[in-house]
Amino acid sequence: MMICSFRSGGSYLLDPLSGFEFHCRTEGTQDILLQLLQQPLSARCLRILLKFRMGCHSLPNVSGRWARVPRPQRLCMRCAQQVLGDERHLVFECPALQSVRDRYPGLFGAAIVTMQQFMWQLDIVGVAHFVMDCFDYLDAASSSNQP
Ligand SMILES: [Zn+2]
Repeated sequence: MMICSFRSGGSYLLDPLSGFEFHCRTEGTQDILLQLLQQPLSARCLRILLKFRMGCHSLPNVSGRWARVPRPQRLCMRCAQQVLGDERHLVFECPALQSVRDRYPGLFGAAIVTMQQFMWQLDIVGVAHFVMDCFDYLDAASSSNQP
């Protein structure tokens, strides 16, 4: 791992093994990324987790923004709850993903009620695999709905 600084402030991390390059505007971001990059995660799993954290994914709250769908209409298409299809719904609420949630009981303790608590718990490897499994489940469901 190489840590490089910009003269204008900020820094970036370069991982020569994976080829990932992370630009950090704040020092805290750099620490978090260093911690993540030291975990035993596949490049794919890490990529999905980082995209999830950055709001760069296919959930309706994001895809609807790009398609200029009004926010109240960016609903989860996987269940009948008629609620915003956002990160919180994916992690805690969507009944379509309960089977995935059930595989990670240690991530859903009584003290884990906010997205911040969920994302920053000690088992970051478990969190990363949970997020990847959720998107794999959603992708598989999407492809099985194709004609
Ligand atoms: Zn849902």
